[in-house]
Amino acid sequence: MEQIILLCLISTCISTIHAQKLLFSPKWGPIGYKEHDADDMTAMDEIIKANEFQASRLIDGSTTLREGDIAVSSGRRSKVCFARSCLWSKSVDGHVYVAYSLSPKYSEMETKMIKKGMDGVEKGTCVRFVPRTHQRDYVEIQPKTGCWSYLGSRGGRQTVSLQSPDCLRVGVISHEFMHALGFVHEQSRLDRDNYVTIMWPNIWRDRLRNFEKFKTDSLDLPYDYGSIMHFGMFAYSQDGSPTIIPKNNQNSKDIKLGQASSLSRIDKMKINKLYKCGTTDE
Ligand SMILES: [Zn+2]
Repeated sequence: MEQIILLCLISTCISTIHAQKLLFSPKWGPIGYKEHDADDMTAMDEIIKANEFQASRLIDGSTTLREGDIAVSSGRRSKVCFARSCLWSKSVDGHVYVAYSLSPKYSEMETKMIKKGMDGVEKGTCVRFVPRTHQRDYVEIQPKTGCWSYLGSRGGRQTVSLQSPDCLRVGVISHEFMHALGFVHEQSRLDRDNYVTIMWPNIWRDRLRNFEKFKTDSLDLPYDYGSIMHFGMFAYSQDGSPTIIPKNNQNSKDIKLGQASSLSRIDKMKINKLYKCGTTDE
């Protein structure tokens, strides 16, 4: 009997070691997240890291995350947003004012960081984030679980979740506000297969759907490898192999996917074009 117990203990021990290896060895995981050099992390890599470690796909009630960080409530068809129907309204002075409220849970430093993320979107665009006074439509910034946003303006109050400290990086904050302004991930553009190859076998099987294409309006702007909305090369990799690679052309080796902290030039053009704003000087 004792021998059996001993055997059981040993086998439990071995399987625990094995499981830990699976969870923590550089080759195997944590699934969907590859450790990069800090300089190499894109905004989306940070988001995947925060969301895969801490957030389940169901964020609350019937709200789930699509493509890793876009909140979708069942019953509300947010895909219609792609047809320019979920824009924030534009003021007569030519600016698009997005009212926000900030959770009192954020510290002064954290608040500063969130403002920096807003500045990143405002610079060179007609978008202005303003503290809410009476506006009916507004973004409620809260440290819920994970980094996520709804797509476009939903009308009324809508949450942008920026969990502390994982999501409080300037690029992550700007990325989530881009979703709130109505933008999806760059590699979900319908024409993406002309520019990148999705390495389906390398993607964690449970996250294949994050690589779907969507009927988006690309606003006649060129495919933007360096968009803050682009997945990094190893997004949702199951074994550390690339999941998205630029299509073979002369310069494909030099192309870097995604962006760590600031909007690309084309990201700013996208905002100004979607909201029909004149180009503002930086
Ligand atoms: Zn995103």
